[in-house]
Amino acid sequence: MQVLKLGGSVITVKDEPMTVDRENVRRLCEEVKAAWPMPLIIVHGGGSFGHPVASKYGIADGFTSERQVPGYARTHQAMVVLNSVFVDALLDLGVPSVSVTPSSFIATSDGRINAVDFWIVGRLVVRGILPVLYGDAVLDRRRGFSILSGDQLAVRLATELGASRLVFGVDVDGVFTSNPKLVPGARLIERLPLKKLEGFIEIGRALTTDVTGGMLGKVSEAMEAVEAGVEVQIVNATKRDVILKALRGEPVTGTILTR
Ligand code: ADP
Repeated sequence: MQVLKLGGSVITVKDEPMTVDRENVRRLCEEVKAAWPMPLIIVHGGGSFGHPVASKYGIADGFTSERQVPGYARTHQAMVVLNSVFVDALLDLGVPSVSVTPSSFIATSDGRINAVDFWIVGRLVVRGILPVLYGDAVLDRRRGFSILSGDQLAVRLATELGASRLVFGVDVDGVFTSNPKLVPGARLIERLPLKKLEGFIEIGRALTTDVTGGMLGKVSEAMEAVEAGVEVQIVNATKRDVILKALRGEPVTGTILTR
């Protein structure tokens, strides 16, 4: 079984609120269709759907004021809308996919998932159905509510359900020595062993604020899956057929995280 995490930066237009990148969604769903049938779970991020409303109301900081309550509801609903565009696109192509709402069965504690039962998700896969989950506004046992990132969720699903591979599809070719969007000379790291990863994260935190962005969070989350023996790959989902090849286990440009 494989888990595919598709970044919000890939399936939405990041600078335009509530805008789906329809071309990328259609192409990615076609690639999933080309690899189908296979035991697969998809998790997607929020991009311009979840993030603007979540940050406007400070949902990730937890409950501090009644004024945030409508923001909690709106953040979730923004994700429902994005999710249904994605699931509809898969259904139109004949892939039997089902939306699974994370906040209806997952709570966090200080932003982290603790005990969770993924039995239903696993059974859907066994039945030949593709579950599609997403980053969501969730209830938090300590802070009231929180944002569960698609990255954390994908890692937990892969770990608990014993996936063989976890593929992160992002808008760059993988993990670079620095943010490739800001540093033109940044080099792609094709194999990143856990030991080096710790060094990389240290450097990232100490020297450049940009590395503490999306990629650092993703890589730190992914460590848990690597430790559990899941093969973790970070690849460019904006480039045609990269996700298809990754799902088929064919070699693609990207970063493989190893023990
Ligand atoms: P997504 O929304 O697709 O899950 P993010 O946007 O959160 O992903 O993270 C991917 C982004 O991380 C890249 O677009 C890039 O700008 C940024 N980034 C920061 N540091 C690095 C790095 N060292 N290597 C690759 N990408 C990096």
